[in-house]
Amino acid sequence: MKRREDMTRMVFKSLFRKPSTIQYMGGKLSLDNRVRGLLRYDPATCIDCKLCMRDCPTGAIRIVNNGTKTERDMHAYLDTGLCIFCGQCADSCSKNSLSCTSKADLSQLKHDDLTIEL
Ligand code: SF4
Ligand code: SF4
Repeated sequence: MKRREDMTRMVFKSLFRKPSTIQYMGGKLSLDNRVRGLLRYDPATCIDCKLCMRDCPTGAIRIVNNGTKTERDMHAYLDTGLCIFCGQCADSCSKNSLSCTSKADLSQLKHDDLTIEL
């Protein structure tokens, strides 16, 4: 009986207590610009050397040329489920075609949506 009273008191108290967790910000996270988040890709400067792909420890990035050797049509795809945001691909790129942004709100409901074009 005593236990039940204790529990009722606890439940009643918690009704008036502030939540102990921070609410999800829905993409409005404000992070320091030193945070390594989503990558930015510049297809105009990319020379299709694929060093970023070679050096990525998780195989998260894919560079695709849909054009020819002389007339490139470059695209970069990132599996945000595999990426550990280490920044190695950006460090390996001699053309600065890849860089880190502080965007970190990348959650998706479906697994297939985790791979995005940069
Ligand atoms: S390392 Fe840089 S230049 Fe080379 S394929 Fe990757 S993004 Fe393009
Ligand atoms: S940030 Fe790291 S894990 Fe993500 S694609 Fe670049 S090298 Fe791969």
